[in-house]
Amino acid sequence: MPACCDDIFLYETNKVIQIQSTRCIFIKWFLYMIVFSYICIALLYDKGYQWKEPLTSSVHTKVKGVAEMREEILENGKKVKRVLDTADYTFPLQDNSFFVMTNFLETKGQVQGLCPEYPTNKTKCSSDQDCIKRLSEPLSKGIQTGKCIEYNQRYNTCEVSAWCPTEATEEPPRPALLNIAENFTVLIKNNIDFPDYNYSAINILPDLNIPCTFHKTQNPQCPIFRLGDIFRETGDDFSEVAIKGGVMGIEIEWDCNLDSWFHHCRPKYSFRRLDKISSYSLYPGFDFRYAKYYQENNVEKRTLIKVFGIRFDILVFGHGGKFDFITVMVHIGSNLSYFGLVTLIIDLLINTYSSTWCQSHVYPYCKCCECCAVNEYYYKKKCETVVEPKSTLKYVSFVDEFHIRMVDKQLLGRSLQDVKGKEIPRPLMDFTDLSRLPLSLQDPPPIPGQSEEIQLLSKEATPRSSSSPSWCQCGNCLPSQLPESHQCLEELCCRKKPGACITTSEPFRRLILSRRALQFLLLYQEPLLELDADATNNQLRHCAYRCYATWRFGSKDLADFAILPSCCRWRIRKEFPKSEGQYSGFKSPY
Ligand code: GDP
Ligand code: ZN
Ligand code: ZN
Repeated sequence: MPACCDDIFLYETNKVIQIQSTRCIFIKWFLYMIVFSYICIALLYDKGYQWKEPLTSSVHTKVKGVAEMREEILENGKKVKRVLDTADYTFPLQDNSFFVMTNFLETKGQVQGLCPEYPTNKTKCSSDQDCIKRLSEPLSKGIQTGKCIEYNQRYNTCEVSAWCPTEATEEPPRPALLNIAENFTVLIKNNIDFPDYNYSAINILPDLNIPCTFHKTQNPQCPIFRLGDIFRETGDDFSEVAIKGGVMGIEIEWDCNLDSWFHHCRPKYSFRRLDKISSYSLYPGFDFRYAKYYQENNVEKRTLIKVFGIRFDILVFGHGGKFDFITVMVHIGSNLSYFGLVTLIIDLLINTYSSTWCQSHVYPYCKCCECCAVNEYYYKKKCETVVEPKSTLKYVSFVDEFHIRMVDKQLLGRSLQDVKGKEIPRPLMDFTDLSRLPLSLQDPPPIPGQSEEIQLLSKEATPRSSSSPSWCQCGNCLPSQLPESHQCLEELCCRKKPGACITTSEPFRRLILSRRALQFLLLYQEPLLELDADATNNQLRHCAYRCYATWRFGSKDLADFAILPSCCRWRIRKEFPKSEGQYSGFKSPY
């Protein structure tokens, strides 16, 4: 079975680091409380426990009011005062809208015929050449005949075949003719329905005293609205809007709680001007034309009326909510992720510690730096940096340097001794492993002429042997045996600067060269290992390499890529030689 498939039959869980810090614990619980409170408030206040269904609605409106217009003088000289009722000033519109006329321009007694156009820059003419036969522009009132005739004493205009006399392009009267319309009232009947909950409602409540007039605070449930009041709510001046017309939105919002213990289902009214006149608005207002046709002396005539007025759009929206267990679960589930934020915030606090400068200059005087130092400690415990195990990766350790160097590039003929590399801190020594070493075992007899006491690494450089190459600083290195292209990898001394060789030190002799210690380590690893004479030297040699790498590089990650200095490599090979053939040297484990 491939290795990846093994995971299917395993349960995996995360390993965590527990930090026993009062500060972190306090922050953790404080943030948990905030998140918990947020979830509870959202659940109750925002009714996260309810499944919400959108409504379906129908609207019916009735406008009431009578308007008396200003005095008019008829053609026959009679004076009249017209009275308009609902049928005169309201027009049926589609959808949830109704229209109230507030102003108009009449062109009476039009008949089909030939007459001059109303004078504008485009229609004025001085001779027939200025008029084009059969020309009809979108703004013109008819089709030109090609003649230029007199409109009045001042102007000549192109003759058109149209409803005559043509309509005058005039500004609507000011103040509006039906300014009184602000006193009209409209009754809005709005039925709503939630089909899933089998619940329907109407905006006229049974306990309502009708007649009434809507008032935002004193009578917010009354479905009868005075038009002037609607405009006052949005801060608009009715008489101003009445001149050219406009569009007003009446919003009815139903936020119904259909749970029996909290039942509430009442509409909320609000108003919004939908055609807010901005400075860019080219055609402000709302108007359209319609005509009343009649016969007079067997001639068809009409009265053309350009109507200005206010269109009211009724927008009904909202929803009905009822307790639903699955919705509660989904709400809680989706909010649980906020608890993860707590870890994120605390981790962020731990990961931010100030620069080394702060710690070296201000610490321990500044409390903040003390805190930073603590954070840095946690961070180190938490993070493990892993370098990509490439074939070019190598680690080098010089006995006269405290840090380790990481080299991650092809050497291209340069000896490893000269490559600078990146300095990385040496992992702290773990003495527990060392204590397992059989240091007490009997060692090989001491080298003649040296004392029994632990020998310190002598300060003086070992005299350079004639065979030691130019890059060697300790005098004990030997040239590599590898083919020329690989030699640079083994051109490494135990020292960066001239000085005593590490192979002459006591730990090297006791840890790396002690045959009994190495044998013990091999058996420690494999108790039933048969140490036959021929194979032993090779095993001991390889074990000695590993011991050196572990000793000088600390962690196993580094030891796998650690390059032994030439002096150590050859000292080990001298102690545990190979009977025949060439040594193969370092091989990258990946
Ligand atoms: P061999 O015994 O003939 O193969 O030759 P060597 O005595 O050079 O040993 C080769 C083994 O030791 C290989 O597994 C190498 O990876 C390992 N080895 C040799 N040199 C180094 C070194 O510098 N560093 C490390 N970490 N391992 C080495
Ligand atoms: Zn050397
Ligand atoms: Zn050396």
